[in-house]
Amino acid sequence: MTHIHDTQASWLDPEVVENALKNPNRDPAHVRAVLAKARELQGLNFDDVATLACIDDDALRDELYGTARYVKEEIYGKRMVLFAPLYISNVCGNECSYCAFRASNKSIQRHALDMEEIKQEALCLIDQGQKRVLLVAGEGYSAANGGFNYVLDAIDAVYSVEHKNGNIRRLNVNVAPLTLEEFQALKAREIGTYQLFQETYHRPTYAEVHLRGKKADFDWRASAMDRAMQAGIDDVGLGALFGLYDWRFELMSLMQHIAHLEERFGVGAHTISVPRIEPAEGSDFASAPPYAVTDEDFKKLVAILRLAVPYTGLILSTRESAEMRREAIALGISQISAGSRTNPGGYAADATSTEQFQLGDHRSLEEVVRELASTGFIPSFCTACYRMGRTGKDFMDLAKPGLIKRKCDPNAVTTLQEYLCDYAEPATQAAGESAIVQSLDKMDPKTRRNAEKMLNMIRNGRRDIYC
Ligand code: SAM
Ligand code: SF4
Repeated sequence: MTHIHDTQASWLDPEVVENALKNPNRDPAHVRAVLAKARELQGLNFDDVATLACIDDDALRDELYGTARYVKEEIYGKRMVLFAPLYISNVCGNECSYCAFRASNKSIQRHALDMEEIKQEALCLIDQGQKRVLLVAGEGYSAANGGFNYVLDAIDAVYSVEHKNGNIRRLNVNVAPLTLEEFQALKAREIGTYQLFQETYHRPTYAEVHLRGKKADFDWRASAMDRAMQAGIDDVGLGALFGLYDWRFELMSLMQHIAHLEERFGVGAHTISVPRIEPAEGSDFASAPPYAVTDEDFKKLVAILRLAVPYTGLILSTRESAEMRREAIALGISQISAGSRTNPGGYAADATSTEQFQLGDHRSLEEVVRELASTGFIPSFCTACYRMGRTGKDFMDLAKPGLIKRKCDPNAVTTLQEYLCDYAEPATQAAGESAIVQSLDKMDPKTRRNAEKMLNMIRNGRRDIYC
């Protein structure tokens, strides 16, 4: 049974956040001590994060970036996980003033894909070489169209598609907050991460931009991860929509959210997403959002998150330009989407209408893979952890002592090899093969032997090998 206290986000304390940001310890020696602590790869506490969020000196900011690059490299090496979103419906009963799907926007065509259309989208993604997909929907499923079962059926539809050597092996889900029972049904569908952004943790701003519909209830949304975890979903993805309110406030509140989940469930966020508001049809912020985050502040945000929660995946979408993505990857981003469409049916029909927001990076998956590989990265399509049951606290217990690398490195090169064999053009194949050689050279002998064995199996025609 859901208790009253479960639906109230009493763990959020804006006064504590504001005080921490009002009186940070700006002494350069203290800032450097925090950065030295971050190099130990065990994360930072709330006050440490406030200290870094208030850096306003260029030299210290550069030291922050240097530390973030070090931590990123130590933990993630050159691996970069790739995924694509799959928008199944833009029907929505909410009135979020920043989103093209808001109920009052009459200028867009509404469509909830049927199961055949969803399979078509999955097929297109599979044929591009994608293995990890994020299912996204507006909050428009009503009793008339099957209610929440629509989402459950959509998950089954995506998982049911196989084509040539490909299939979608991990489906993460970004849909509106659910009841405990609905989360239990979602868990039974074997999803990866349940992802939900609070948009803003600042209650007055939240009320201003969520004008009508279920989403207007701040606490129902803020308590969603509690219900997800109670239902046994170990991996949850947090985020805020940056630009609605002060990014420092959102960052510190995210820290409170993570601390709450850690205290209650023994594990915090599996991922954090950092979307910045983009212009959207019918949005109130077509030109400038009220607290637009500058590129410099955005980089600070990514760098600080990398240091604060080093083992939490940091996700960047195609909202950002290719150039910003390159910089943010160096500072801490560990997962990016590629070749995205944010309109339902956008992969199969290649329609350009009714996108949820404008994209900053229009490159195809192939182009992104080629660029990553030719700059020494290993684009990874790995889905091993959740399929091996390495989720939640079990994942963190392996990650924190640095043991996960022995799994991630072989899995990354193996999934890249699959992509190169089955989908890549010759120039991408060449770049990828050379990135694999560089990666093998950096592995310890035992990990390397394992990776070479797995690579040979792929080259000999086996698929979906992981450890
Ligand atoms: N409808 C569900 C909800 O709102 O939670 C889930 C899907 S919604 C389409 C996914 C996310 O898109 C939202 O959480 C919001 O952060 C983001 N979004 C909406 N409008 C945006 C915009 N104009 N620019 C960037 N991101 C936006
Ligand atoms: Fe609907 Fe989500 Fe867009 Fe809000 S952000 S209008 S809930 S799709």
